[in-house]
Amino acid sequence: MKITAIKTTPLGLLFKEPYHWAGHCDFGGHVVVVEVQTDEGIVGIGESSDASPPDGTVAFLRGVSEQFIGESPFDIERLLRQARCLGGFSYTPWFANLVLTGLEMALWDVIGKSMGCPVYQLLGGVYREEVDYFGFLQGNTADELTRSAEDAVAAGFSVIYMKVGRGEERDMANVAAVRDGIGDRRLRLDANEAWDVGTAIRMINRLARFEPEFVEQPTPAHSIPALKQVKDAVGVPIAADQCVFTVADVYEICRQRAADVIVLSIHETGGLLAFKKAAAVAEAAGIAICLHGRMVTGITDCAQHQVALTLPNLTDGNQIMHQLITEDILAAPDITPRKGKIGLLERPGLGFELDRDAIERAKARSGDLRPTQAI
Ligand SMILES: [Mg+2]
Repeated sequence: MKITAIKTTPLGLLFKEPYHWAGHCDFGGHVVVVEVQTDEGIVGIGESSDASPPDGTVAFLRGVSEQFIGESPFDIERLLRQARCLGGFSYTPWFANLVLTGLEMALWDVIGKSMGCPVYQLLGGVYREEVDYFGFLQGNTADELTRSAEDAVAAGFSVIYMKVGRGEERDMANVAAVRDGIGDRRLRLDANEAWDVGTAIRMINRLARFEPEFVEQPTPAHSIPALKQVKDAVGVPIAADQCVFTVADVYEICRQRAADVIVLSIHETGGLLAFKKAAAVAEAAGIAICLHGRMVTGITDCAQHQVALTLPNLTDGNQIMHQLITEDILAAPDITPRKGKIGLLERPGLGFELDRDAIERAKARSGDLRPTQAI
């Protein structure tokens, strides 16, 4: 089988409600759907995330496409390494991964469809028959977050996740209200790099009374030592998120013992194969991986679920994002968690079918989105 063409389609996605996090309020964003066509008529589908505006991602994907034409879709390791080397990414390895992941996902979709099996069977098979996801609270005020927490509890989520780093007194009020609303359920707090080391230590010590399971990426992404300084100073476990993209980043976190948990997406590693490698490095250090959610559709949530089913060192309370956007671009399957869990996806490949009408609507919206406002 040979690759004959690579097609890119930018989509504009809207959040159902304003998405509040440290220092920002997002209303939507872009992804780029990548379709790999083959001479056997099999089409693989993936998506590249964080493509706002999408023009750059589309241009880089077009730039590497020629390298893939005529090649076997099975040769993922070589093709991706070549694309990283020859695609103009010498000084931007994190951006390279965000761009190339859609292509890598589509190759796995081709392989799975050609073999007639879901991708998890090609990545090590079933280690777990279901993956646990967290209830992701939405809202700006303590009252809105409390209502969201009540919904998450009613839906059966056992791990609850919310944003902090939104102002010290606001954080204290929001977390107090949510802890009150969720009882003894597990609570995770994500500061999204909002704090310097001193502020992080002070805030985590203040928030400790609400018994967070861990606090995610309290300090800026560029400094692993800052994260370690906070981790060594507080009594609450610390998760690394934005400071970890590549397999080498995972190694550094593990080597420096800078975090207790690593939050990671296939978009950050550059695809499913590199994600497996990254998870293996963390496993060797005794550290668990938690799935990270970026601005994505159900395409990514299915793909990450496929690899998550195969991982020994996966946390529960993982992240999915498709439920936050207005356009459900999957015709099937329904990947709504039941009591926080999603089971095996049995369709061949990454396990989904696209709703082409929804794709067209999202495509038409792509040109005039205003993704982010600072608050
Ligand atoms: Mg995070």
